[in-house]
Parts: sequence; structure tokens; C-alpha cells
Amino acid sequence: RAYSAEIERKSRQVEEAAAELARANSQLREIDIQKDEFLSQVSHELRTPMTAIRSFSDILLSAPELDEAGKRRFLQIIQDESIRLTKLLDVILHLSRMENGGIGWESEPFDPESALDLAMASCEVLARSQGIALKRTKRARQVLVEGNRDQLAQVFINLISNAIKYNTSKAPLVTVSSATHNGVYRACVDDNGSGILKSDRERVFLKFSRGPMPQQAGTGLGLAISRQIVETMGGALSLCESRLGGAKFTVALKTVRAAPKLPPAEATQR
Ligand code: ADP
Repeated sequence: RAYSAEIERKSRQVEEAAAELARANSQLREIDIQKDEFLSQVSHELRTPMTAIRSFSDILLSAPELDEAGKRRFLQIIQDESIRLTKLLDVILHLSRMENGGIGWESEPFDPESALDLAMASCEVLARSQGIALKRTKRARQVLVEGNRDQLAQVFINLISNAIKYNTSKAPLVTVSSATHNGVYRACVDDNGSGILKSDRERVFLKFSRGPMPQQAGTGLGLAISRQIVETMGGALSLCESRLGGAKFTVALKTVRAAPKLPPAEATQR
């Protein structure tokens, strides 16, 4: 009897292992499908600037009668498209490196307000040139979060420039606020534009997903990479309706304690 119980136990283990293998297999197949989809999206996105470069260089080579102004115009397009291509490749590589678990930056405690200040300063010119009021309202007290300041500043730049770029209001307004509560630092970018439909609020975070204003320059990667950066820092990036009527993006990051200061003797021994 002990023998048959043992056989039963073993055969149950074999069945469980087989079920586990089947699950792993279907997960791998799912990842494979996602990778294929990503590759075909990437090739599609790269083809547009490549085609422009190819056709304008063809024209330059086959039309010697072109005057100087015409040549310069085509060369300028080739240069602009190559710059766009390089930027696109950089973003794709950065994103795929992070998705594969590589951080690609130094991680250390820093004050997130300094990243927000940097982003505000860098978006001011854009806001002014588009006649958009960019305002700083509530401000968090000084705290520390773990991650990288430049990467977080890039996230804020993406959010603020989107709020400017997609704002079609007659009196466009973008407000930036921050606060810390219960050990969580939150920074919000609110706008009074047309907002994002509830049904699209998760879709906009997908790679290459673009909304109804494709005339605005963009790659559809800004929000995907921003969410990846914030999540790599252990935080969350979410979207809801703003009280101003448009979209409201919130970055939430856990605060950390400052490393205790070492007494001078120990500090110098290090
Ligand atoms: P991109 O701006 O290059 O298209 P993003 O990933 O930054 O890529 O944004 C994806 C889409 O989300 C945009 O094409 C736009 O339709 C929508 N979107 C992003 N931010 C806003 C906003 N503040 N208001 C309205 N729509 C927005």
C-alpha cells in the first residue's frame, strides 16, 4: 500500500510539473508575439524617415540642374530626418534596455523638486512661444527619492510638453503642483485642453500609440518611456481627468530617508 501511495504522489508531481511547463510555454509564446509586434512597429516607424532620406538623396543625385537653394532645401530635409531617426533609435534602445532589466543610469537619493524645477525651466520657452500660461502652484517640502534626477526631469519634460502640445483651449493653461503625504511624493501636471477619453487612458501609455492629433510632431513613445522610467524608480505614473477640464498626469514616488551622516573620522577613512 505504501508503495502505491508513493506512486500516486509521484504521478501527481509529474502532472503538476507538466502543467507548469505548459503555462511557461504559453507565456513564452505570448512574449514572442509581443516581441514580433514590437519589431514590426519599430520597422514601420523607422521606414518613414528612411524613405525620406532615400528619396531626397535620389533626387539630389539624379537632378544636376537643381539650383543651390533647391539643393540646400533637400539637404536640410535629409539632415532633419537623420536627426529624427537617431532620436527615435535612442528612445527605442533606452526603452528596450529598461524593459530587459538594465537601468542604464546611476541611482541615488535626490530631491525630486530639483527635477521638476529643471523641467519647468526647460519648457518655459515652448509654453511662451505657444502663448500658453505655465504655472507652478503647490510645492512639496524638501524630500529625497531614490533614482536619477535627469531621468525624472525627462519624465516631467515629456508630461509638460504634452500638456502644451495637445492643448487646444482658447485660454490654454498648464499647472504643475507637488506635495508629499504619508511618505509619498506626488507631482501633478494638469491642463485645460481637450483631455483624454476614459477608454484611451491606458492605451496612451502603450508604445507607438498616438492620439487624434497626429499633425503634432511625436513618436508615441513619450508616455511609454516615462512610465517605464518612473516604474524603474519604484513609483507609478497615472492619468485621470483634471479639475481644469483636460488631462492630469501624476507621478508618485516613495520618499527615502537620507543616509546618516558619518562622523568626520569614519568619513575620511572611507
Ligand atoms: P507623442 O506625444 O509622441 O504622440 P506620447 O506617448 O507622449 O507620444 O503621447 C501619446 C498620445 O497621448 C499623444 O499622441 C496624445 O494623443 C495623447 N496625449 C498625451 N498627453 C496629452 C495631454 N496632456 N492632453 C491630451 N492628449 C494627450
